Amino acid sequence: MTTATATIPAPPAHSGSLFQQAYEEVAESLDSVLAAHPAWQAARVLERLAEPDRIIRFRVTWTDDKGAIHINRGWRVQQTNLLGPYKGGLRFHPSVTEDTLRFLAWEQAFKNALTGLPLGAGKGGSDFDPKGKSDAEVNRFCNAFMAELQPQIGPDRDVPAGDIGVGGREVGYLYGAYMRLTREHGGVLTGKPLGIGGVALRTEATGYGTVAFARHMLEHKGESLDGKKVAISGSGNVALYAAERCKQQGAKVLTLSDSGGTIVCEAGLSQDQIDELKNYKEVQRGRLSDYSSPGVEYHHQIDPWGVACEVALPCATQNELDGSEAASLIANGVIAVAEGANMPCTPDAVEKFAEAGVAFGPGKAANAGGVGTSGFEMSQNSLRIPWTRSDTEQRLETMMANIHASCVEHGGGKGKAVDYVRGANIAGFTKLAEAMMQMGV
Ligand code: NDP
Repeated sequence: MTTATATIPAPPAHSGSLFQQAYEEVAESLDSVLAAHPAWQAARVLERLAEPDRIIRFRVTWTDDKGAIHINRGWRVQQTNLLGPYKGGLRFHPSVTEDTLRFLAWEQAFKNALTGLPLGAGKGGSDFDPKGKSDAEVNRFCNAFMAELQPQIGPDRDVPAGDIGVGGREVGYLYGAYMRLTREHGGVLTGKPLGIGGVALRTEATGYGTVAFARHMLEHKGESLDGKKVAISGSGNVALYAAERCKQQGAKVLTLSDSGGTIVCEAGLSQDQIDELKNYKEVQRGRLSDYSSPGVEYHHQIDPWGVACEVALPCATQNELDGSEAASLIANGVIAVAEGANMPCTPDAVEKFAEAGVAFGPGKAANAGGVGTSGFEMSQNSLRIPWTRSDTEQRLETMMANIHASCVEHGGGKGKAVDYVRGANIAGFTKLAEAMMQMGV
């Protein structure tokens, strides 16, 4: 019989990788839990979770509008189906590698467990860059990608969704391709446009949910969102709807950004400006450098973290906010940070926030409203009865409140500030570990 010890198992060999960074953040939180459960150590629960069930890799060949042939790589990381069908988005971005998707799939396992819904975890994507491509080119790419992915997925097996570079347009094309291949209409992808099986509020859910989580963190500190100055990075799906929700709740949104630079609006963006930006980014696919509006300034190659604000919501991409930027936010009065993106804050930044007593909500808790609402879309598709916007909104609010409460339960201590990272990791891990033990080897 294996002797149980309280030491954290050595992480799988991926030194210096995003996966390694994400793994270490979780493993460091689990010492007391593993020490309290020798049977989980003997069963090697953490190591088994860290190794994906399987990784599928494939070539995607497609033709551009001029007839030239292009080759991209595609992947699906099926991390774990302990709690339900594999579930997690697809990312189309030139920076995507297997390591990117392994880190995202690992984070997804804990996030999906936190939602309390029957969702396993996965992540996939391609190094394809949809920027600057015509609709016809994106459509051809999506058809070629789905031709390879389709045998691996299904409503009860693996249910992908969107992520960076994959929005309603791409999910629609992917779903069309899946339907033509299988002749089946069902809940195989989430984030679908409303008319073809999407659920009301899925588009808004990640951003709205992140703001709900930030609001709970503030309320836990005896503060409120009303009147607070908020810096947001990104100007994609998560950022735009986080901005909208902040505005609705009385906060002032000072910034949005893209990979070219940041727009700053000292007076706070108005709802009209947010609506204009939604159309500009989602429909016209414009760059912030070409956006102009009264009271809005563009700063080339500058990120939002030098702006004085009380709340920061990084909503663009991983490792976009480092230790020196965290120090500048702290010096400028930040009191709460909630990650709309996955792992946007570096370990150094997270440490600085903790030292300064800044409430810090990690992405796996703060942005879980997106996948949670995808879970609602799966329920709606199985029931074949559309949910109303208020059904989804109510459930999303309850889910975010429950996730916040789980983090406080596992990451709080009498008289101590809540450690949301520890709380989220322990709450998610406990569910996964219990399921793994119940199912045996
Ligand atoms: P989008 O593609 O809609 O938007 C991404 C935004 O981030 C764009 O403004 C983009 O700018 C910016 N960005 C992307 N890469 C970089 C980079 N390397 N440097 C600077 N800016 C960058 O993606 P989403 O809004 O859907 O996703 C944003 C984050 O939220 C990701 O971390 C994603 O994993 C996470 N997330 C998304 C969920 C969802 O439901 N969509 C759910 C949970 C988490 P540009 O256009 O210039 O590239």
